[in-house]
Amino acid sequence: MTVEQWGVQVPVRQGEETRQALIGEGVLDVTLKVLRDGDTLVFPVLQERDGITRYNFEEQPGRIEIPRHEQVGGIAIMQENDPDGAAKILASRPSLHTVLFPKTEVSGEYRTRMYAVLAGTDTTRTEVVEHGHRFAVDLAGAYFSARLSTERQRVFKQMQEHELVLDMFAGVGPFAITLAPRASLVVAVDLNPQAILLMIENIRKNRAANVIPMLADARRLEKILPWKFDRIIMNLPLASTEFLPEAFRLVRPEGTIHFYSLVSTEGEHLARIKELGGALVTERVVRSYSPGQWHAVYDVVVG
Ligand code: SAM
Repeated sequence: MTVEQWGVQVPVRQGEETRQALIGEGVLDVTLKVLRDGDTLVFPVLQERDGITRYNFEEQPGRIEIPRHEQVGGIAIMQENDPDGAAKILASRPSLHTVLFPKTEVSGEYRTRMYAVLAGTDTTRTEVVEHGHRFAVDLAGAYFSARLSTERQRVFKQMQEHELVLDMFAGVGPFAITLAPRASLVVAVDLNPQAILLMIENIRKNRAANVIPMLADARRLEKILPWKFDRIIMNLPLASTEFLPEAFRLVRPEGTIHFYSLVSTEGEHLARIKELGGALVTERVVRSYSPGQWHAVYDVVVG
């Protein structure tokens, strides 16, 4: 029987290295067989990532059938409210401590959701390892998505040494801490006190001493911050262009803004960005969201 799952495609020569890395991250879906596709291998993984797509995999013979789920650190998140299935998931992998079922959609200013614990330890807290960084997360208390890990690396690779960076919607700090090694200073802002408390923990865990956590409303930053920034991260995709004027006031001439937005047409925000002073704008799809809608990132170099 074949099962649809996310797949990471790599050249055959990188197969073993990739397998080890995916096992290390705890995301290899061991219930499915690796797919051979010409000169490439496709590894089944439990999490969506930037740039990957879904494939049909054959099940490993003799394996207990494990219900579909997504993994965030030591937590598995099921799509069905299925306690028996949750117990099977928990038993299938020693790295898991809890299985959750989302009771609500992601909602509110803090972009959080509520969960029911279906199996394991009664917690929504866990630790996520991402490209050598360790992040304490609390899925019910503050927003976190592992799906942006490739995006964080992409922005990091664009940076020059000693940049002054502002993350306007920083959550528990994954962007801020990833960018910190190339920055002179990162100001990481969030409105959610729980996000800031987790961010402080993450700054300590990752020894990111040049990240300043700041509990504040991004609407008021220009009045509080004395700097103009080389690079600004804006990851609040549902807010559309509301916060863009503030970002343009805070960026230095020729600085860069990475503006993430949920869009339904190509070039949806281009006119507004140009009107505000965007000189060079590149638009990319980050991932699909629903039929006809996707997350886009606009990399904007300011004139
Ligand atoms: N950048 C983080 C990441 O990639 O994990 C978090 C992004 S999350 C989609 C958006 C964050 O913006 C939430 O943590 C929320 O609390 C915060 N937020 C919402 N409105 C805000 C505002 N007006 N000022 C500052 N932060 C805000």
